[in-house]
Amino acid sequence: MRVALFGGSFDPPHAGHVALASAAADAFALDLVLVAPVGKQPLKLGIQSESFADRMAMVGLACAGDPRLVASDLDRPRADGAPNFTVDTLETMRREFPEAELFALIGADAYLGMEHWKEPARLFELAQWIVATRPGFVLAPLGIAPAGRVHWLETVHVDVSATGVRERLHQGLDCEGLIPSSVLEYIDSHRLYR
Ligand code: ATP
Repeated sequence: MRVALFGGSFDPPHAGHVALASAAADAFALDLVLVAPVGKQPLKLGIQSESFADRMAMVGLACAGDPRLVASDLDRPRADGAPNFTVDTLETMRREFPEAELFALIGADAYLGMEHWKEPARLFELAQWIVATRPGFVLAPLGIAPAGRVHWLETVHVDVSATGVRERLHQGLDCEGLIPSSVLEYIDSHRLYR
């Protein structure tokens, strides 16, 4: 079994996230992609976001079109209030899927920052990383990544960011095509991003 972690803020989940996850599942024959909203993102502390429960619900809706994608609470807020680190999430995944080949999905922008994450060497031991193109960012090798533990996914070309979507929602602009319509309905009915 080939299982991938796809972590992020997903505030809200958008067309770029869905495209990345489905394209990775196609290209690398992934059986399961755990799309896991982060409880508390260590590098974005202090940034206001919608609640974990709302982001989980929206991720569930965004995953509904592809049976390989599943919303996961693996990265839920910790009881002690500490930030969530991907290395700990992957260690948990390793225990939950002891027989699986583990992957982690990431966009080119986030990949460039990985050397600042907790225990980078361990991150590449625990999983093979699938790094996707993102408009405006280059796919550049990182010195810290050991050979054979990083794969490029060059078929993702969706110029959408959660920041851009939040701005449009805030201004009352149309977001059709930028986020799944079910997510948009959830946002409207729960009055999020006002
Ligand atoms: P924000 O604008 O709030 O920083 P974001 O759009 O980057 O958010 P995140 O939830 O932070 O979304 O991203 C989760 C993961 O998805 C990261 O690895 C990021 O690189 C990747 N990703 C997000 N949008 C795209 C996109 N349009 N193309 C490729 N990868 C993406």
